[in-house]
Amino acid sequence: MLNSLRFRLWLTYAILVLLVLCVVGTAITLVIYRGNIPLLQAALNLQTLRSNALPRLRSAGDLNPRLLQAVLNRYANQFRGRIVVINARGRVIADTLGEDGTSLPDFGTPPLKTEVGALPEFYQDDEGRSWYYIIDEINQNRWVFFAVSRPQLRIVTIFRDQFLRPLVLAGLVALLVAIILSLLMSRWISAPIRQISQEAMQLAEGQAQPIVPEGPAEVRQLAIAFNDMSQHVQESQQSQKDFVANVSHELKTPLTSIQGFARAIKDGTVQTKTELSQAADVIESEAQRMNRLVQDLLTLAKMDAGTARFEMHPFELNPLIQALIQKFKPLMDTAKIDFQAKPPEEEVRINGDPDQLMQVFDNLLDNAIKFTPSGGKIRLYCQKEAQKIAIHVVDSGEGIPVAEQKRIFERFYQVDKARVRGQGHGYGLGLAICKQILERHGGSISLTSIIGEGSDFVVKLPLYH
Ligand code: ADP
Repeated sequence: MLNSLRFRLWLTYAILVLLVLCVVGTAITLVIYRGNIPLLQAALNLQTLRSNALPRLRSAGDLNPRLLQAVLNRYANQFRGRIVVINARGRVIADTLGEDGTSLPDFGTPPLKTEVGALPEFYQDDEGRSWYYIIDEINQNRWVFFAVSRPQLRIVTIFRDQFLRPLVLAGLVALLVAIILSLLMSRWISAPIRQISQEAMQLAEGQAQPIVPEGPAEVRQLAIAFNDMSQHVQESQQSQKDFVANVSHELKTPLTSIQGFARAIKDGTVQTKTELSQAADVIESEAQRMNRLVQDLLTLAKMDAGTARFEMHPFELNPLIQALIQKFKPLMDTAKIDFQAKPPEEEVRINGDPDQLMQVFDNLLDNAIKFTPSGGKIRLYCQKEAQKIAIHVVDSGEGIPVAEQKRIFERFYQVDKARVRGQGHGYGLGLAICKQILERHGGSISLTSIIGEGSDFVVKLPLYH
């Protein structure tokens, strides 16, 4: 529960709500505390003092200081303010604080009169007390200074009296909204995630469906990545199944044949020396075929596992091509194929394993012979590019349909299985092995082919400088 997305979302919202309320509450309280409420209160008090006291002071304006002091005291007690009568030069004639009166602001001579309705001025006396004051004229020679000390507002009191209740109420409403929002948000986020995890479980059982990307962008990305992964896993599961089916199928034919001939020898169906020798020949050739298949499968398995041994070192390509020409010339002659092969004209160095690369070209030339009728033509030539050498194996054979051109590099893929098997050749693993070997060399293999005209296999390998 505490770990759930819903609770964590709610907690985040709740913390946010509390934070916002605290900040807003503090800000409003400070604005009021620092702001002009005390000023307005002081203005009101001073205005009352002025309208009450000024007429009386004006009529008693010429009294001697002692009598004037008595008049002042009465008002000051009534309004808790300070009244000071000063002459035109700013000297104090009477002061409600008497002899102990603190300093007055410097209002210059003659003192300025505060307009009715204007806000009071602020000053601090020499004891550090804060006052608001106004000044008015009694007569030509006397001026009166009214002051009230700055009202002391307690910040806690303002907060408690004015804001606590509305803030608590707003907080409760916001928390309720947060609960609803977190429910909606968590459903929006977690529903697609839950679907992904369900499909992941299905995937383990081999039957995941693609997910429709929904929810926030990150979750949609996760769904797209999951769909990709799921497709790869399913393809790989399928190719594993195909692989097992293919291997079993390829082993079944020679095994059945071996079993049949062995039984025939055992039960005496095959008796004569010639028959026995023919049976032994079939058994041997089928066993050889199986051996080749197992060897090819082992090679691929080692490459997949990364344990295939590659003796990489820089070497000259020319001798390798020469060796190929020497090996294949007699075979081409026997097959009545015109073989035109040219080693590279300039020195070409490659970093790689010559034996493995030899296997690649062996396989390509083998195929070329296999699929080129007698009277046909096979060419082997090299073309140097900026950083690579391209080695072409071109035949004038039957060609490969465009739709199959990519697939022939897949394991066990053969364009026309019945025809190829009928000839007693390959398993469709040769090109897959070539591709793996070339990838280990940082190279590639590609093909252009036209039905009825022939195929051009191009091997590209990085040059060694
Ligand atoms: P295989 O052992 O069957 O030759 P490969 O992997 O070498 O296996 O080749 C796969 C398939 O590609 C072949 O069965 C054939 O159908 C096709 N193929 C390969 N090379 C040629 C070529 N030169 N001309 C026509 N088809 C070819």
